[in-house]
Amino acid sequence: MQTATHAEFLKLCRKIGWKCTSQRLAVYEFLQGNHAHPDVDTVWFAVRSALPTITRESVYRILNEFTEMGIIGRLDHIDNARYDSRVGAHGHFICGQCGEISDFDWPEGAVIPPEMLSRGVSHMEIRLVGICRRCAAATGGSAPSQANDFPNNQPK
Ligand SMILES: [Zn+2]
Ligand SMILES: [Zn+2]
Repeated sequence: MQTATHAEFLKLCRKIGWKCTSQRLAVYEFLQGNHAHPDVDTVWFAVRSALPTITRESVYRILNEFTEMGIIGRLDHIDNARYDSRVGAHGHFICGQCGEISDFDWPEGAVIPPEMLSRGVSHMEIRLVGICRRCAAATGGSAPSQANDFPNNQPK
């Protein structure tokens, strides 16, 4: 029997010219039903129940393929603690190339869902990842523009 997710993935593969392998499908199906931002090991563990021979490297490769195609997102730069002399809610811009982190003021009008604020919030941050000016200048180009995916830039 074919699930809705399976059908959806077949359609997606056809659109981008991918082979719909059982490995890709398993990873896709797991991620679609999971909103806990799993890491590669969690995904690997989950898909191994259906595909016992799948390697961690394969799962990692598939996750990267999905990320490059924009099928999933990836949260980078969260493994190592960084320490901050500025306390209180503010934003961080992280350069995806050199790792430089800079602060920006909390954007006026940013609305945090009240049901989240009622959970004993002890840290508030907005994190943007991009290319810093120095890295952009070093590579001779400007930062790639993907800004259309982000809320501020949605057509009114
Ligand atoms: Zn940089
Ligand atoms: Zn900071």
